[in-house]
Amino acid sequence: MVNKERAGAGSAEEPTDQLALRRTNLARTLRHIRANGPRSRAAIAAATGLHKATVSSLVDELLARRLVREIGAEHSGGAGRPGRGIALSPDVGAVGIEINVDYLAVHGSDLTGRTVIEKRISFDAMHRDVERCLDDLTEAARRSLAELVRRGVTPVGLTVAVPGLVDVARGVVVLAPNLGWRDVPVAARLAHGLAPGLWIGVDNDANLAALAEYTWGVAAGTDDLVYLTGEVGVGGGVIVNGRLLRGADGFSGEVGHLPVEPGGDPCGCGRVGCWETKVGLAELVRRATPDAAYGPGDGPIPDPQERIAEISRRLAADDRAAADAVAEVGRWLGHGGAILVNLFNPRVIVLGGYFAELADHLIPSAQANLARLAVASTAARCHFVASHLGFTAAARGAAGVVVQRMIEDPTAVTLTAPPPLAGVR
Ligand SMILES: [Zn+2]
Repeated sequence: MVNKERAGAGSAEEPTDQLALRRTNLARTLRHIRANGPRSRAAIAAATGLHKATVSSLVDELLARRLVREIGAEHSGGAGRPGRGIALSPDVGAVGIEINVDYLAVHGSDLTGRTVIEKRISFDAMHRDVERCLDDLTEAARRSLAELVRRGVTPVGLTVAVPGLVDVARGVVVLAPNLGWRDVPVAARLAHGLAPGLWIGVDNDANLAALAEYTWGVAAGTDDLVYLTGEVGVGGGVIVNGRLLRGADGFSGEVGHLPVEPGGDPCGCGRVGCWETKVGLAELVRRATPDAAYGPGDGPIPDPQERIAEISRRLAADDRAAADAVAEVGRWLGHGGAILVNLFNPRVIVLGGYFAELADHLIPSAQANLARLAVASTAARCHFVASHLGFTAAARGAAGVVVQRMIEDPTAVTLTAPPPLAGVR
C-alpha cells in the first residue's frame, strides 16, 4: 500500500500523501478523545502537538461525519477561556452478530462503546442447510440494523462472528465443522441482502471474544491472556503482548482441535480425540444428562441455556453423575489449559460460554490439573477466571472491530443520513 502510494510521480504524489496525512491525523484526534475523554480543541492541540488551526479543521470534519459532537465548556487547564468539549458521538455505531450451532447473539453499540442492543435468538444450524442459515442470518442482521436506527444510532458496519476458520480478508468461512460449513462467502452473501455502503466483515468468534475480553472484560488490559469459549465446539483466542495472535493464514486459536486423546472419540472436524470431544458442551451434556444428549433427530434442539440450567439444577441437588461429569470435564480443561500455558505463558485463561456459567464447579479441578501438568513452576501463577461478558462476548468484539475500523480510518465512514452542519465555534 505504501509503495503504491509512493509510486506516483510529480504532482500525483503530494495530494495522495496529504490525504494519507489527513487520515492519520483524523484517526489520531479520535484516538486521543477515546483515550482521554472529552477535550477542547486547544487541549487536543496541546496533547497531540498538532497546530490549533489544524485541530479545528480536523474536528470540523469529524463533526460533519458525525463521529464526534460538541458538549459543554471544557477547561483545558491553561490560561484563557475554556473551549467546548469534543466528545465521541453516540450517533453512529455498529452491530456484531455471533452465529453458533444453537443461537445467534446480537450486540449493537455506538462509537462511545455504549451498549444499544444485546439479545440472543434461538437458532438451529444443525437442522438447516447453509442457504437457509444465511437467509436467517441476513434477516437477523437486517432487523438488528433497523433496531439500531430506531434507537437513534446510524450503523456503519456489521461483523459476523463464526465458530470456525475464517479468511478475514475475503469474508469467507473456510471451515466451520460444527455448522457444517465449508468455503461459504458470508460477507458477499450478506452484502447482497443489506443496504449498500455498509462495512461487512467476518471473523472467528473466539478471536473476537478475546479482543472483547482484552478491552472490556474481567482481565481487561492483561497483555498475555488466553480466552476459551465453551459451546458445542471449543474455540480460543490468544493475546500475546497486547496483540491478537492470528498466525500466517489467520487460523491460529483452533484449540478445540488440539489432539489430546489418541484413539479417542470422533470430532466434528473428522479427526479423533480432539480437546472439544472432552470439554465441549455436547460431551458434558452426554456425561451429566445422558437422557438429553445431543444428536441428530427431529425437531428443534433445546437452547444451550436450558441444558446448562438443567445441569446446574442437578448439581444443586447433589446428583452424582452431574458432579462426576463436571469434575471430569474440569480435569480435561486443566489438561488442555496446561498445553496452552506451556506454549504461551499467559497470566490468565478467561473462560467464556458455558465454561463461565459452570466456572465454580469446573475451575477447582481445572486449576489443580493445570498446576500438575504445566512445566514451568511460574505457570501455576496462571489462573482460570470466568468471563463476565456473558453470551455476547464474541458479538461485542465483533461490533468493536467495526468501531475500531471507524476510528482508524474516519474518512471511510459513509453515512446513509445527511451529516448535520458543523458546530459553530
Ligand atoms: Zn476436531
